[in-house]
Amino acid sequence: MVRIVLTGFRGTGKTRVGELLAHMLNVPFFDTDALIEKRAGMTIYELFQKYGEEYFRKKECDTISSLDTTDSVVSTGGGAIMNPSNVAALRQGSVVFLLTADDRTIEQRIARTERPSLTRLPLREEIRELQAIRRPFYIAAADFCIKTSRKDANETALVIRHILAEGTSGLKEGTGFVSFVRKTPIAREEAEALEKALVSEGRDPLTRIYAVAGNPCSHSLSPLLFNHLFSQYRMNCHYTRLCWSDFGELIREAKKIDIRGLSVTLPFKNEAMTFIDEADEHTEAIGASNTLVMCEGTTFGFNTDWTGIRDPLINLKGSSAVVIGAGGAAAAAVYALQSLDMDVTIFTRTPVKAEGLSAKFSVPVKPLSGFASESPDVLINATPVGMEPDTRSPVDTSLLKPGMTVFDLVYTPADTPLLIAARKAGCTTIPGTEMFVRQACAQFRCFTGIDVPPAIVRGYII
Ligand code: NAP
Repeated sequence: MVRIVLTGFRGTGKTRVGELLAHMLNVPFFDTDALIEKRAGMTIYELFQKYGEEYFRKKECDTISSLDTTDSVVSTGGGAIMNPSNVAALRQGSVVFLLTADDRTIEQRIARTERPSLTRLPLREEIRELQAIRRPFYIAAADFCIKTSRKDANETALVIRHILAEGTSGLKEGTGFVSFVRKTPIAREEAEALEKALVSEGRDPLTRIYAVAGNPCSHSLSPLLFNHLFSQYRMNCHYTRLCWSDFGELIREAKKIDIRGLSVTLPFKNEAMTFIDEADEHTEAIGASNTLVMCEGTTFGFNTDWTGIRDPLINLKGSSAVVIGAGGAAAAAVYALQSLDMDVTIFTRTPVKAEGLSAKFSVPVKPLSGFASESPDVLINATPVGMEPDTRSPVDTSLLKPGMTVFDLVYTPADTPLLIAARKAGCTTIPGTEMFVRQACAQFRCFTGIDVPPAIVRGYII
């Protein structure tokens, strides 16, 4: 057994399902709202009226962090997962089920209950607005997602009990997936670790699988990093590597084992968009995704690359910038630079391939050979040139000038030929590891709802 945590919006049935499930499994049931009410000696409604939402959230956080992680069923308040430290506490040694329902069903279920208004909007609008705001948080914080609109509480409890016993994919699917992965370039220990998680006799059907998907991707540090983070946060998850040339096939194979999340790397970030059911506004605007999260049979797409590029350049607002390359990372770079009011030009070896990017962001595209006439404040390399074992620089290094800020997105090696030359030329340099660290923190948040400090990620990879 394991601690079972139920999350979701008000009216998705968390409390009733939790009571039934605890009864079925013969374990104690805790409802965090009920615990808060008991400790405060008043209802949540009265607590809101008297002290306001902030006070309630503090009490909620204290209650969640004081919960025991032994076998039990825990039902949480609808907004609890908005706080990443609540999520970290709830996920420890637990399996998290997100219960969802459509707005109309929720309205029907809660219309006659006593509820503190969180927005002062009429009920229907409040549900719509809060569901939209909380959706990414709910999805991130879940291990399994269950639609409840057409199920009563007993049916939902039975579905959860079934998943607890069998998981959401079986031995047959696991065996098929392991055979597929064994065809790809993967280190023996990594393949064996996956096999252990999916098909060994002692396998745990609740282990959630994540992977990096790319071609090539043998250089990716993500398996090392995410497996460390999963064990640090005591999460029952395993992260593997899928290096394969056919992204469609890779996704089909991964879906057979109900994969929970994928880090997408080159050359699939643009193609990934065609496999996404819902993307956030930044991902839509960039037109490339490096993070896929699966929940309820729906694939959610995010782009965490752009924040990884934006954050280290935050003090250079309004500068002129050049981006070398026109793939997925370049799109994220242009979006990040424009969000800092920079004037951007793209240089690429095949300008015709960059026409879409140029039109999307209204930025000029020039052939790489034309870089000689430029002297930007910021230069970003968004090509794989300089990635081990390549020892070239993407631009003629004699053109680098003191005062320039040179950001090489390549992170293997950490000190690329371009960065070495830029330092010699008196430029400020930013290594690709910095982008990796920041985008990985954002990606871990999309995968789990937990905020990991950048220093922890740096410690694992540098
Ligand atoms: P991508 O979608 O495949 O795009 C690669 C771009 O580089 C294309 O415009 C391509 O031009 C160009 N290119 C490839 N080889 C080239 C060469 N020899 N000379 C000149 N241009 C060349 O790849 P991506 O996902 O954007 O990734 C690009 C780089 O960013 C990779 O090195 C990746 O490792 C790095 N990256 C780093 C991080 C991080 O966290 N630090 C995150 C994401 C990406 P064509 O269209 O002409 O082929």
